Amino acid sequence: MANLNDYQNIVGSAIIEDIKLLAERLKGKRILMINSTAVGGGVAEILNRMLPLLKELEIDIRWEVIKGGEQFFDITKKIHNALHGKDVEIGSQELEVYLETNKANIQDIDFSADVVFIHDPQPAALIEARGDVQRWIWRCHIDLSQPQKDVWNFLKKFILKYDATVFSAPSFSQKLPLRQFLIPPSIDPLSEKNKPLPQEVIDKVLEKYQIPDDKPIITQISRFDRLKDPVGVIQAYKMVKRYNDCRLVLAGGTASDDPEGQIVYEEVKAAADSDPDIHIILMPHNDLEVNALQRASAIIVQKSIREGFGLTVTEALWKAKPVVACAVGGIPLQIKHKYSGLLCHSIEGAAFAIKQLLNNPEYAQTLGRNGREHVKNNFLLTRHLRDYLLLFLSLFYDRDVIYL
Ligand code: UDP
Repeated sequence: MANLNDYQNIVGSAIIEDIKLLAERLKGKRILMINSTAVGGGVAEILNRMLPLLKELEIDIRWEVIKGGEQFFDITKKIHNALHGKDVEIGSQELEVYLETNKANIQDIDFSADVVFIHDPQPAALIEARGDVQRWIWRCHIDLSQPQKDVWNFLKKFILKYDATVFSAPSFSQKLPLRQFLIPPSIDPLSEKNKPLPQEVIDKVLEKYQIPDDKPIITQISRFDRLKDPVGVIQAYKMVKRYNDCRLVLAGGTASDDPEGQIVYEEVKAAADSDPDIHIILMPHNDLEVNALQRASAIIVQKSIREGFGLTVTEALWKAKPVVACAVGGIPLQIKHKYSGLLCHSIEGAAFAIKQLLNNPEYAQTLGRNGREHVKNNFLLTRHLRDYLLLFLSLFYDRDVIYL
């Protein structure tokens, strides 16, 4: 595990000193993080990387994961989709299961802490366990801009009892009569997924998946999900291919628990029509291989129709790759069009942008370099850590009164 000082070479000593100074003011404060999974997904990934750093800073931090049955997680998946704006039916009995599971967790969890930090909707109703002098934060990692109204109204009853909410971007948030903080997510430059890799490691991964490096490689790394539009990526590639020789890599998780994932995978295979230059890779979760594929690519594409923050874009930019991505979700926060990547709005637009980059490698390189700088300044773990420390501190300041 990396130490805080290991980040100094990447972000500079001033930021590390700043973090240490802020943490000094929080020494001894007990912070409790609660989410719904210890592994898998962006939230768990960030917590796994951030907690050791908070401990190193002598902050008394604990992490609890709520327990629930299969039915509970099916329902919270539905709630998640409804909050994303999907039209899903959630019955009152299902909401009852949600409430009962939260109640059962209230019995099991030790809430003794000065700050209780709840991630996402699954454990949101734990607020009923709130003690008198505690501060409770609800951190929403999803785009809440167009939620299904009745589901949001159900959840909102709980959210209103919190002291503060945190959203990843202004456009993801909802109007609430609470203190609101905007804190984007981050990537860890020292993790397996983002650390620098020797060329041999990259070559080995290409070899494993039988991808020759004879032509520029264009890659999209994503779950096989229609909202990531993998078929659209193939169509864009086919338009490009008429003018520029290249390979396409579509790599994504197996998602064995997601029946739709399999269907989308089959659709993608059919769309590829046995083109030997299209490599469709159904890969098990493997950070190092994702890292290697991103580094082996000439261009990274993210042609999503809807997106959360779009961490694959962050990862690609950090590797100084030119990125072509649709202007959805958090992607425009990461890519300033024609400066740190190219934004597109259609298959034709994506094809045009890819051609432009293939025909002008110097331009592509400049975009990649600018993208890396933007991620360095805004979306690395150290910035995220500093934001959280400031957030915790701010909860102990109430107008003129300081509770520290
Ligand atoms: N990812 C991965 N393996 C895959 C597909 C995705 O490790 O097969 C990672 C990817 O590198 C990124 C995250 O999963 O870190 C996906 O986050 P993103 O915000 O791009 O999309 P989401 O899947 O959350 O919609």
